[in-house]
Amino acid sequence: MIQGLNLIISAVWKLGENDKFAGYKDALMTETISITRTKNSKINEVDFKNLSFGTVFSDHMFICDYKNGSWQTPEIVPYGPMEMDPASKVFHYGQAVFEGMKAYKDENDKIWMFRPDQNFERINKSSERLAMPAFPKDYFFEGISELLKLEKDWIKTGIENSLYLRPFVIATETGVSASPSNAYRFMIICAPAQAYYSGEVRVLFADTYSRSADGGVGFAKAAGNYAAQFYPTELAKQEGYQQVVWTDANTHEYLEEAGTMNVFFRVGDTLITAPTSDRILDGVTRKSIIELAKSKDIKVEVRPVKVKDILEAARKGELKEIFGAGTAATINPIVGFGYKGEDFDLPKLEDSYATKLKKELKEIQANLAEDPFGWRYEVK
Ligand SMILES: *Cc1c(COP(=O)(O)O)cnc(C)c1O
Repeated sequence: MIQGLNLIISAVWKLGENDKFAGYKDALMTETISITRTKNSKINEVDFKNLSFGTVFSDHMFICDYKNGSWQTPEIVPYGPMEMDPASKVFHYGQAVFEGMKAYKDENDKIWMFRPDQNFERINKSSERLAMPAFPKDYFFEGISELLKLEKDWIKTGIENSLYLRPFVIATETGVSASPSNAYRFMIICAPAQAYYSGEVRVLFADTYSRSADGGVGFAKAAGNYAAQFYPTELAKQEGYQQVVWTDANTHEYLEEAGTMNVFFRVGDTLITAPTSDRILDGVTRKSIIELAKSKDIKVEVRPVKVKDILEAARKGELKEIFGAGTAATINPIVGFGYKGEDFDLPKLEDSYATKLKKELKEIQANLAEDPFGWRYEVK
């Protein structure tokens, strides 16, 4: 596989004790990451000023296979298609989880990520729910660091630019018996990204479909959760809404998430968001906004949000904002919503929380502002 002039770099990893992954300790003692550089960088073909989110990928990808009960030697190889057996379990039973994170570059060419420890913990939480093995912490962070060093020219400076990282795990065992796979592949691919403008977003409050249920997989970034959202979202689009605000599966009385984002409501001057649960994904952006808002003396209430209360607030003119929160868009303001045939518009505010919090959060992420929370992580 590695031939000719391809450069092979092997770095011996110094791996410490890590009780959380004690089961994999033996496999971690002395490991090597092998790096095969591309001979044909695509970077000059990319128009970094006209990127459509998640459609262009960088030159390399990180791969680590799991077999015989342990994670194998990780590799970084040129980005490209890979061959898989049609009977690979991921195609049949959807055993797949993913993450989304961003890397930024500052004026001094330093590379920063935002709370990557949270994504690391979450991918393993997602994996556990899908009966998949945990990925070792050292591999995760070394993989990111080696990959970003190779792809540093793909990260452009400026607050609107970033490199979106998509770590994911798929079940690769061949066979269509419905049981957990005994082979997996962990990968990271990278896509350069600009500011995420989705136009004006109107949302529909769900009263029939659900994205998750008690005891289900809603808290996990499981691939199948997204497939299941597409159809109801398409129906909403036909009615003129861009996204669905999911409600609880039992009663549809509580507002839980907006599309693939967590959701915030501003009633009067109070910011309200639902508590996380096994139906609601524990978003890094969500938890950061809660802390950031509190530090700015914005009143935040984390409590179940009733559809009825939001309708009432809208009718009284007290509902000032709704916005989604997630890594891709950071904060995505919502201009209006529909519920059971009735439509509501939100006011255009000069001093919106969405605008203010988005700016402050992005400045922390891109190393353009102080980070009193210790959220920023320098990739070295
Ligand atoms: C990823 C995701 C979010 C946002 O999480 P972040 O960590 O902020 O990116 C929210 N809801 C769902 C369903 C998600 O998949």
